Amino acid sequence: MQDNTVHQGGCLCGAVRFEAHGMPKRVGACHCRYCQLRSGSAFGVSVYFPEDDVRVLQGELKSYQYQTETGNTTVNQFCTECGSTVLWKVGALPDYTGTAGGSYDPPTFWYELQREVFQRSSADFVHLAVPESHPTIPYYDPQLPEAERLKGG
Ligand SMILES: [Zn+2]
Ligand SMILES: [Zn+2]
Repeated sequence: MQDNTVHQGGCLCGAVRFEAHGMPKRVGACHCRYCQLRSGSAFGVSVYFPEDDVRVLQGELKSYQYQTETGNTTVNQFCTECGSTVLWKVGALPDYTGTAGGSYDPPTFWYELQREVFQRSSADFVHLAVPESHPTIPYYDPQLPEAERLKGG
């Protein structure tokens, strides 16, 4: 069945705008240190679509690439003007584009949170109502040493 829903969003300053077509394939809250550092907040919200379903409409994105302890590479894409990270690619989901859960135009939180991951490093004050909660991620298998500041529990 064709889903013609389109959701638009963008960065803080408005220079970067994107749209996502259809419904997301995966939606999760992540309490890992990488998401905490990227967002400057207690957790990140990732809304994943097949990459062809996400289109950048305007603005300039810069990429920051890093490797996590699982050996996977993540690429964050952020607005060159205001620094909001709006999109990302993660090595574990090569054909998907992650969109930042808080970047959608109102009504911003139109999607449903399916699960939370890396709950082991969640802030004590965060209590999310989610059907699934994982201390890390299923099949978690760290490969690389991590700096102390990046360790979560
Ligand atoms: Zn911006
Ligand atoms: Zn994370």
